Amino acid sequence: MTSNEYDVKFLQVFSQFIMDMEKLPPDVAHPGIGETMEDICSLLRIARVSIDITEVLFSVQSRIPQNHFHVYYSAGTFDEEHPFKFKKITGSKGTAVYSVYPFINSEPWTSQEIEKIKLFLTALFTFNGRARLTEHVSRLTFNDRELDVYNLNYFMKTATGLIATRSIYNYAACRFNMIKFSLVNKRLGRKNGTEVMRRYIKGLNDIISPEGFICRLGGDNFICLFLNNDLEKVKDYLMGRMIETGVMGLEKINVSCRTAYFLVNEDVHSAEDIMEHITLSFNMLRRMGNQTVLMYDEEVRKKVENSRWVESLFNDALKNEEFVVYYQPKVELNKYTLIGAEALCRWKHDGQLISPARFIPVLEQSNNICVLDFYMLDHVCRDIRRWLDEGLPVVKVSVNMSRVHLGSEDLSAKIIEIIRRNNVPNEYIEIELTETTTDVDFTELKRVVSSLHREGISTSIDDFGIGYSSLNLIRELPWNVLKIDKSFLPEESDENSSQKKIMLKYVIAMAQSLGLEIIVEGVETIEQVALLKESNCFNAQGFYFDRPLPLEEFEKRIVTGQFSPCTDIVK
Ligand code: C2E
Ligand code: MG
Ligand code: MG
Repeated sequence: MTSNEYDVKFLQVFSQFIMDMEKLPPDVAHPGIGETMEDICSLLRIARVSIDITEVLFSVQSRIPQNHFHVYYSAGTFDEEHPFKFKKITGSKGTAVYSVYPFINSEPWTSQEIEKIKLFLTALFTFNGRARLTEHVSRLTFNDRELDVYNLNYFMKTATGLIATRSIYNYAACRFNMIKFSLVNKRLGRKNGTEVMRRYIKGLNDIISPEGFICRLGGDNFICLFLNNDLEKVKDYLMGRMIETGVMGLEKINVSCRTAYFLVNEDVHSAEDIMEHITLSFNMLRRMGNQTVLMYDEEVRKKVENSRWVESLFNDALKNEEFVVYYQPKVELNKYTLIGAEALCRWKHDGQLISPARFIPVLEQSNNICVLDFYMLDHVCRDIRRWLDEGLPVVKVSVNMSRVHLGSEDLSAKIIEIIRRNNVPNEYIEIELTETTTDVDFTELKRVVSSLHREGISTSIDDFGIGYSSLNLIRELPWNVLKIDKSFLPEESDENSSQKKIMLKYVIAMAQSLGLEIIVEGVETIEQVALLKESNCFNAQGFYFDRPLPLEEFEKRIVTGQFSPCTDIVK
């Protein structure tokens, strides 16, 4: 071979070697290092070489072959006189020191040979070091260190790759949250709790095909991308598994999840698309009370689309005062007089009147509902102030405050501030709040209701009877009014109407004995009016009297203050 041919051959072998090295985990020495060294050294036309790789605490020694090139290990010291002792390389599993020797009693290397060896080893270490660094960076970037699972960055990167190759369409995604995991932490302590979580996630990882993977979004929130075929297995697993705790006296604990699933379809063009679908449906699921599984389908897609639409328009709509107050009269049943009204929001957009069912649940996903509620209260106060100034016989107006407010500290202070700013006497305002299910909310609710009570602002329990009616909630808080939901009212078609009647009477009697005012919502028929009177309840709100009315219409009711007992209702 000519010198040039040698160089070309050398480059070929060397680059192959480097490419092989790149594929290896960084803390595994190249298994073919001996043979390759033989090739390389013969190509470098160096004989008399001995290479010593000293591995300190290296866990992979057995994988490095020993051969006539004397690639061997010594945990001992070096002979400082050897011409090359290369830098230490610190990897995740230890430190390696590579040294290169001439054979004992052989001719000393020429300066040219030394240059070649230097060149080769420098390249070797550069690549090895780079691979280690890459692995280290990728661990930090793509792994959750507490559980040793992937993180969101990994999800985004890998999903993007799968989309590029179109293999993503064989996948399903799910986002899940462990149900009441805080209780597991409370019972076992945080460290053991984390271990249970790690085991549970490992269990899931074991049942999905290797193409799938799990990423932690934070806390007990995860996202998993897996092959469609694994769907049933994943569903079954996430419904619940007994997990070993390793804690004496409490061998196993049940871990289950609330999960939103999404079968990746042709509408998906980016990893963000998957994240968005799965997160929106997960948020939807969270609002569904006890339901633990939601499959993203056409219905959910429509809801998601509506959410986006509402959210994108909300700020402008608020600025342009597109939200308007409608007033639904409350009527006294003996004399059919107007005794109050409930303020209900309507959205006038592009010549259409949009019902709250379409936008309130969306706004409740964020704090926007609080902004809207304060806007409504402010507008109601402005109307009342004007009515007072005009000398109209003003009635008390109730304003709905979403349960979302309970998370904020200053709900009552803000309510009081708005009423004062508009110079409205407190007696004209009532605040409607719905029942709560959790202890935390209960404490918050108590704080709000009590402080409004101290200020002389009355409060009512809205929608009583749907959800989790709790006698404690009524007894322990200084409410003024109980609003009984229309579901308590028997309808003509009701089979169990006599049962409903008994319930209604009982609830009314109970609330009265607790000193609460009562009003029944959703009264639609003369029979229902008769039943209320019979049950000793004389306040009602419903289509039988009026639908929620625009301001000008309602003002006419204030002026007359009187309802005709035979109003025809148009539903
Ligand atoms: P809600 O507070 O229980 O209000 C009563 C709902 O029952 C109103 O629906 C009202 O139009 C309807 N209704 C009244 N009488 C009858 C009847 O005889 N039959 C039937 N079938 N329905 C009747 P609307 O106005 O569509 O509001 C729905 C819900 O949206 C409200 O229920 C309330 O939870 C929420 N909402 C409305 N405005 C606001 C607001 O400004 N803030 C908040 N946070 N929620 C609001
Ligand atoms: Mg209400
Ligand atoms: Mg209600």
